[in-house]
Amino acid sequence: CGIVGYVGSKPALDVVIEGLARLEYRGYDSAGVAILADGGLATAKRAGKLVNLRQALEEEPAPEGTAGMGHTRWATHGPPNDRNAHPHVDCSGRIAVIHNGIIENFASLRAELAERGHTLSSDTDTEAVAHLLEEELREVGALTEAMRRVCRRLEGAFTLVAVYADDPDVVVGARRNSPLVVGVGDGENFLASDVAAFIAHTRDAIELGQDQVVELRREGVTVTDFDGKPAEVREYHVDWDVTA
Ligand code: GLU
Repeated sequence: CGIVGYVGSKPALDVVIEGLARLEYRGYDSAGVAILADGGLATAKRAGKLVNLRQALEEEPAPEGTAGMGHTRWATHGPPNDRNAHPHVDCSGRIAVIHNGIIENFASLRAELAERGHTLSSDTDTEAVAHLLEEELREVGALTEAMRRVCRRLEGAFTLVAVYADDPDVVVGARRNSPLVVGVGDGENFLASDVAAFIAHTRDAIELGQDQVVELRREGVTVTDFDGKPAEVREYHVDWDVTA
């Protein structure tokens, strides 16, 4: 139900957890994070409130990294438990994805993936996306292009954010029928389902249009459609107050 992504110079975990806390008012049943650090990918996720996730992270601290993402889930496919909480990872454990919305054609995608030898470990519609990214990454190597290719195969409503340990300076987002906003900072950039998540850091924002993919790096953001065609973006300033 809430999504936050970050790449910059601050500890990503702090930025992401703080952002999720600002989205708590929307309601959720589970929470999770993924942090890119030391050439790898660390994830933590728990059913229940953010306090459960924070506690898990205290017991088993994530490595420090300056890029990552976080999610609060409102379960639609699969009961709210630790396993079904996001992020979901591929078979290699180097790709992670979070998702708000519903992938309508998930059943046929899951069946297809199982046939090709993937083991899916949750009941969610979302997990198929992690495994599709894994397959596309084998072909194209770069996360952003892999995301565009996967999005072309998805039906339904989605805000997706993904990270890949081999592409550690990039956070990728995509959207269809579900909101995604970019927060533009100085040497740091943000993604969120709602500006409330990053307004403490920047008030310069870009609202993504329908069927667009954004590549987030420290030095800037690139927006295209699902075919890779550059999209025109309009930056705006959030000048109202957020009290959530
Ligand atoms: N459909 C996904 C799930 O059930 C995402 C739900 C959400 O929007 O949080 O896990």
